[in-house]
Amino acid sequence: MRNGWPPWPPTTIFLTEKPTMISAVARREAAPEPNHAVEALVLNCMDYRLIGAVYNYLASRGLAGKYDQITLAGGAIGVMSDQTTEWANTFWQHVTLAKDLHDVRKVIVIDHRDCGACKAFVGKDCADERDGERQIHEECMGSLAKEIKIREPDLDVELLLMDLDGSVEDLSRTSRATGQ
Ligand SMILES: [Zn+2]
Repeated sequence: MRNGWPPWPPTTIFLTEKPTMISAVARREAAPEPNHAVEALVLNCMDYRLIGAVYNYLASRGLAGKYDQITLAGGAIGVMSDQTTEWANTFWQHVTLAKDLHDVRKVIVIDHRDCGACKAFVGKDCADERDGERQIHEECMGSLAKEIKIREPDLDVELLLMDLDGSVEDLSRTSRATGQ
């Protein structure tokens, strides 16, 4: 015997729901490209302090809704560390999928300062001294960029270091010089 739930016909639930102005605007801003192609695959650290800053930075460049994303502790350090070899496999599988599914043309790597994963995997206090910290990320991101270029020569690579205030240093040129 029916006890009145679920309601039948189920029109009351589905037909009375209307999109609000806010969700309609958000949907339009983040709408995927019609051909399912997007600009980039973003690799960033899991750190909760910078999740919003990473989105805001990419949105400020007009990339909202135009990137795939893989988040691993440490970003490039998480991919390249000897202690996380399975993460590298995960990363490369995502690169392949992002290319196949969404025709990405670029990998944007966003490491950040005061990174706990850097301290855990590199084995020294990365935040002690800013120049030394930058150099660690330059070397690691440079090695990753070199590897990306070997595996996927047609992909561009951007290497960025974010500070805790959300500001971004572009290390693309110095990192690649260091990594080669
Ligand atoms: Zn981190």
